[in-house]
Amino acid sequence: MSGGVMRGATMSGNAPHADPVGTDWSNTALASPGLSLDRPTVTIDLSAIRHNWHAVARRYTGPRLGAVVKNDAYGLGADRVVPLLAQLGCQDFWVDHVDAALTIRQLAPASRVFVLNGLAGSNAARCRADALVPVLVDEREVAQASDEARRSGPLKVAIHLDSGLSRVGLDAAAVSRLIDQPALLRGLDVVAWVTHLGRFADPDATENIEQRERFLAWTDRLPPAPRSIATSSCVFADRSWHLDIARVGSALYGVDTTPSMPQGLRPAVTLSAPVLRVAKVPAGTEIGYAGSFRTQHACTMATLAIGYGDGLPFALANCGQVALAGGMVPVVGGVSMGLVSVDVTALGEGRVQPGMHATLFGPGVRLEQVAAAARVAPNALLVACASQARRRYVDDALTQDMAMTARESE
Ligand SMILES: *Cc1c(COP(=O)(O)O)cnc(C)c1O
Repeated sequence: MSGGVMRGATMSGNAPHADPVGTDWSNTALASPGLSLDRPTVTIDLSAIRHNWHAVARRYTGPRLGAVVKNDAYGLGADRVVPLLAQLGCQDFWVDHVDAALTIRQLAPASRVFVLNGLAGSNAARCRADALVPVLVDEREVAQASDEARRSGPLKVAIHLDSGLSRVGLDAAAVSRLIDQPALLRGLDVVAWVTHLGRFADPDATENIEQRERFLAWTDRLPPAPRSIATSSCVFADRSWHLDIARVGSALYGVDTTPSMPQGLRPAVTLSAPVLRVAKVPAGTEIGYAGSFRTQHACTMATLAIGYGDGLPFALANCGQVALAGGMVPVVGGVSMGLVSVDVTALGEGRVQPGMHATLFGPGVRLEQVAAAARVAPNALLVACASQARRRYVDDALTQDMAMTARESE
């Protein structure tokens, strides 16, 4: 985000003409359709998701490109995102837990649905009945699945191998036992060997290369099955990372996981919050709890209906910036549960009015930069905010207006 307050931009998408504060009471005239006037709104651009799917598909050289839709598609809403991706040709969906997997099963009946948390929320017999593919997290789950398969016939599973991240998957000793005793896999139709990198933002890190070598060495000695290591950043790295199945989340939603590598992705999410009040305050006024900010001179403050309860990071207190009325304005004072103040003095008299929307992130206010200012991961910011705000979906034409607003404030 650029520093300081910018002026001189023309109308923003939501801005009224420059009436003085208080002369226009018709709030509804100021907001775009679907934007809430008293809570944050997240606008999801379906055409950007489409664009990003094609961008990833052009890069990925392996046979099977799948989408990760955990946490309700990173907060964007699986009910809209999954059918869209299925329509674009996505046949594999990867999700964290069973409840979500069952929903996705219905949204995309022809697809494979992988449950990353393994059997914990279900069991092998139910996975079979529900046509879900569990990603088995340890040797114990392999044994449970194999027992069920010996009773009831071949069972489709994926098996996670822990090549270095030490979260889930069979560790080196368990992998050795599988290699030495293939009978441990009896009855299992292994549709994927899976591993996950420790340094996703930097695929070519030495530690990642070691993980890949370990994974390839193991899977060379295990029964043959498609191998999956690639997440978003790997797809944009050397094709030696691609292997047979990709599990891509962030890139589809426009989140750049590899800052060192331009990916040609389009931001798919805009977070905005309405102005509730605009007030002129004299020098020496305390803004927010415990006087965390004190004005040096007379200022105009706008209060936005968004706070940490809506997922806005606390760390943006006195350091974040938002786009409003064609400019960038600073956050002053703290971030409360549902409110935050911005100093709009530099925008000029009457530019900001209640009912207008400030953009917290979106095209032109990069999510990645806001996240860096708040010292959180971009996905953490995205998921926290997008899962709570009112959701609104737009496609191509409608978003032109928003894109223009963003460009003006760059
Ligand atoms: C979240 C997740 C992914 C997706 O990673 P992105 O960087 O968002 O593409 C892939 N695999 C696993 C196991 C995950 O947990």
